[in-house]
Amino acid sequence: MPKPVRVRFAPSPTGDPHVGNIRTAIFNWLMVQHERQQGNEASFIVRIEDTDQGRKTEGALEAILESLRWLGLSWDEGPGVEGPYSPYFQSERLPTYNEAADALVASGWAYPCYCSSERLETMRRGQMDRKESLGYAGHCRELDSASLATWREEQEQEIPVVRFKVPRDGTTTCVDVIRGEVTFENRLLDDFVLLKSDGFPTYHLANVVDDHAMEISHVLRAEEWLSSLPRHKLLYEALGYAPPLFAHLPMILGPDRAKLSKRHGATSVLEYKQRGYLPEAVFNFLTLLGWSLDDHTEIMNREELVTHFGLDRVAKPAAIFNQEKLDWLNGVYIRDLSVDELTNRIMPFLEEGLPADITRPIDREYVRQIAPLVQERLKTLADAPDMVAFFLQESLSYDPALLVDKQLTPEPVLQALKAATARLQSLDVWQAEDLETLLRPMAEELNLKTRQFFGAIRSAVTGRTATPPLFETMEVLGRERCLLRLEESQRLLGAVSSL
Ligand code: GLU
Repeated sequence: MPKPVRVRFAPSPTGDPHVGNIRTAIFNWLMVQHERQQGNEASFIVRIEDTDQGRKTEGALEAILESLRWLGLSWDEGPGVEGPYSPYFQSERLPTYNEAADALVASGWAYPCYCSSERLETMRRGQMDRKESLGYAGHCRELDSASLATWREEQEQEIPVVRFKVPRDGTTTCVDVIRGEVTFENRLLDDFVLLKSDGFPTYHLANVVDDHAMEISHVLRAEEWLSSLPRHKLLYEALGYAPPLFAHLPMILGPDRAKLSKRHGATSVLEYKQRGYLPEAVFNFLTLLGWSLDDHTEIMNREELVTHFGLDRVAKPAAIFNQEKLDWLNGVYIRDLSVDELTNRIMPFLEEGLPADITRPIDREYVRQIAPLVQERLKTLADAPDMVAFFLQESLSYDPALLVDKQLTPEPVLQALKAATARLQSLDVWQAEDLETLLRPMAEELNLKTRQFFGAIRSAVTGRTATPPLFETMEVLGRERCLLRLEESQRLLGAVSSL
C-alpha cells in the first residue's frame, strides 16, 4: 500500500504573502484534493517556519492565514487545527531540532563552530576580494576538543553554532519530479549552519527534521529552493531518514522576464482582495502559473482544477505573470456570479467606498436591483462604488455642460427636458420598456438626434455621460428620483445662458 499523500505549505512569517508563495500553497492543496477525489487518503498541512526571529514581521502570520482562507485553501493540520504532529510552529519545536543536531554531532556529521561573527565577516570579505565562492572555509571542522576549547576562548564565543560536514569532494545527485536528476558539486556547498547560537535551527535543519517528523510524502515548493536540495539530501542521509519526493515549481516572472516584484503591480494576494478581485479568479489564474491542462484551456473552476491537477503537467520553464489575463478572468468570473452573489460581494466595497454623504447601512435590496445593470462593466468589485454612487446619492453634482450635446445650445435642450418631464409625469408604469416607448419618438418631435436627447436625459438623471442602459437605469432609479433630477437639471440649465 502506498503511503498516504501528506504535503505541506511551509511559509515563513516575514512579510505579506507573495503571489508565488500562495501559488505554492494552491498546488499543494490541489494535489491533496485530487488524491481525495481518487479515493485516496491525503492531508494538507500548514507549518509555520518561524525560526528566523530577526525576520519575523508583525501581522505576517495573520496575512498568510487570511490569504489561504480567502482562497478557500483549508488545511487539515496547522495553526488552529491540532493534529498528530502538533505543534505546527517551528519556534515551538526547538527540542526536536536540538536532538537532531546532537545526533549529527555524535555521528560525526556535524561539528560545533566557535568562529566569531567578526571572523566570519573578515573571511567573507577576503573571499569576495579574491573572487572566491563564499562560504565557511571549515576552520573548526577538523579541530580536536582541546584545540576547540582554546579557539573558543580566543574567539570569546560561549555557545557554538553547529555546522554540517559537507563532503569535500564528489557530487550530490538529487531527483526532482519535475526536473529529473539534478547534480550538484559538493565543493560548492559550504559547511552550512544547522543550529544557531541562540538555540534556533536554520531553515535547512528545521525543514528536514519536520518534513520527516510530519511524514511529508511530497515537497512542492518554489524553484528558488532547488539550490537547497543537495543540502537537504545530505541531511536526510546523515539522519538516516527516507527523503520525500521533491517537486520544485517554476519561477514566476513579470512580462519583462524579471523576477516578479512590486514594480510589476501588486504582489501580495491580499492586495488583490482589496482591489476587488474575486478569489475564484485569482485561484484559477495562479493555478495557471506553472500548470496547464492543455495549450488552450484557461477558465477552470475549482472543481475542474481539482479533477485535472497533477504534477505531470507542471511546467519547467518560468511562468509569466500576465496582469491583463487576470483582469480578463476576473471579468469572466464577475459576469458568472448570480445577482444575489454579486450583491453580496459588492456590498462591503460599497459600504467602504461610497461617498460619506450616502447614508449607511446601504440598502441591500436596492443594490440587488442595481447589480445586474453594472455586472457587465465591472472589471473588479472595487469599481462598484464609482459606478453605482449616482443611484444612491440624494442630490447629484455635475457640470450642466454635460446635458448639452456639443452641437447644441442650452435652449433646445432645456425645452426638451421640460417636455420629457411633462410626459413622464403622466406615465403609469415606470418600467424600462414603457419609458423607452414614451421617450424614443420624442427626439424627432423635438428636432433632436436620439443621441442628443437621450444624452440630456441620461446626464440629468445620473450626472454622467457613461452609465448602464438608460431605461433600465431609470426604472431602478424610480419615478420620484428621476423626476426630481429632471427638474433639477432644468434649474441648472436655466441658470446658464450659454456654455
Ligand atoms: N519556509 C520556506 C518558505 O518560506 C519553505 C520552503 C520549503 O517549502 O521548503 O518558503
